[in-house]
Amino acid sequence: MTPAEPLPLLVLGGGIAGLGAADEARRAGVEVVLIERSDGVGGMLRTDRRDGFSFDRGGHRFITSLSWVQERITALLGDRLRVRERRSLVLLDGTTVAYPLELDDLIRRLGIRSNLRALGSYLAARSRARRAVRAGQLETNLEEWLERRFGTYLYRRVFEGYSEKLWGLHPSRISAEWAPERISVPDLGSFLKQMLWPRRSTPRTWAKRYLYPRTGIGEIVESLGNRVIEEGGEIRLRSTVRSLAPLEGGRWRATIEGEHETHVLDVRGVVSTIPLDAFCRLIPDSPPIPTLGQRGLRFTNIAFDQPVPLDATWIYQPDPRSRFSRLQIPAARSPEMVPAGCGSIQLEEPWDAARGEQATSQLEERVAEGIAMLRTLGVELEEPRFAFTTAEPHAYPIYEGNARALAAQTVSALERKPGIAIAGRQGRFRYCFLDRAFAEGVNGARRLLALPPLENEVERTPGDPLPLEAASIV
Ligand SMILES: Cc1cc2nc3c(=O)[nH]c(=O)nc-3n(C[C@H](O)[C@H](O)[C@H](O)COP(=O)(O)OP(=O)(O)OC[C@H]3O[C@@H](n4cnc5c(N)ncnc54)[C@H](O)[C@@H]3O)c2cc1C
Repeated sequence: MTPAEPLPLLVLGGGIAGLGAADEARRAGVEVVLIERSDGVGGMLRTDRRDGFSFDRGGHRFITSLSWVQERITALLGDRLRVRERRSLVLLDGTTVAYPLELDDLIRRLGIRSNLRALGSYLAARSRARRAVRAGQLETNLEEWLERRFGTYLYRRVFEGYSEKLWGLHPSRISAEWAPERISVPDLGSFLKQMLWPRRSTPRTWAKRYLYPRTGIGEIVESLGNRVIEEGGEIRLRSTVRSLAPLEGGRWRATIEGEHETHVLDVRGVVSTIPLDAFCRLIPDSPPIPTLGQRGLRFTNIAFDQPVPLDATWIYQPDPRSRFSRLQIPAARSPEMVPAGCGSIQLEEPWDAARGEQATSQLEERVAEGIAMLRTLGVELEEPRFAFTTAEPHAYPIYEGNARALAAQTVSALERKPGIAIAGRQGRFRYCFLDRAFAEGVNGARRLLALPPLENEVERTPGDPLPLEAASIV
């Protein structure tokens, strides 16, 4: 297959992975048609804008260790991309502690007794862990993974309720293989070492800075989508593919359903970034379709005519009695997320789309609960100007049992079919950040266009301007 062939490349899904694939096709001079089910591109990276207020669908940070990804996104956004500093807190017993945990802050906030209990519990967990390792017992679930790294005391107070609320599953039912992808904060041992013997060059996980566009993470996907169109690519919104039939030589025949019409298009290959099980249903002779659990998130966005005097980017709420898992302050990411003199908050709430509950129900109760949470933090505000909810039904893949391994087998079987590449978070059913989703989309297109892949890991030199990190507890 050569780039000169006239058939277009078909891309399914218009999130960052699909846009990366479409952009790569246009860079290679290949026609491309991108099919997106919703009314706009961006997927999880969409930013909703109302009356000068911007709300991400869950606050995002752009962080990458792939220098070519950083170069491309930086070139795309120019000076609209700013370096920001993370500050996250955890609400514990009516007070807040810094996250990742900081020893001096913990001592100050929780008192010496709680700290001694945390330390004792950590040391006991380490000695149990050493015995388990000697006996060849690996961690099998998230509870064991967290207890070994933080001790039972901090696990129960910081992680247990939060994880259960977030996932709808007790940590003992979540596979341990999920943890390293999701929890990249230092364990308590590395943290103590860093406090006692600070190193000048801090590793990735200790750094606090990230890149963020002026008016929301959505600027990345909006700019990428515009570029695909300017370069002659086609993006069809409110469209889906009903079926795909294989032709010879890796070509496929797609039946595409738009808002008003259905038509057939022959394509030179398909990059799929839509949920893996949905893609399997489009093709004949699909490999086994695994049962893939997904955790959704609902966002309650509240706009105020006065600033919100909190500078934390987000505040975790581990208390299982609250429906919310995080409170986000959009202006702490970028002051341009709100009009001058105004403020906003976003409340993140785990949501099970499969249960069928409407994402937009009970707005008033949610707003009242959010305002009560602000009060706990010592913030009293006047009535909000407006509030609305958004929802993402596929926010997090749930690695329950062997779902992850089955998904990986299905992806390999699909990619053995000529003319098929699978990319992205829902596409591969793999927890990944936006930089990886973008890289997978780009490399998926390159594979189908017979171009060599772009590197997956590039070492950064100490003098590089941006320390990169991916600290998160979810
Ligand atoms: C709350 C939250 C916070 C996050 N924070 C960060 C962060 O700080 N930093 C970071 O790097 N990453 C973060 N991520 C991860 C990041 O959002 C994802 O890695 C990335 O957006 C995945 O992009 P994607 O293109 O693979 O998937 P998606 O964005 O899900 O795109 C898939 C697209 O396919 C479309 N689609 C679905 N089905 C069909 C169909 N049948 N036909 C046509 N189209 C279809 C969807 O509408 C969607 O537009 C976060 C994720 C969440 C949920």
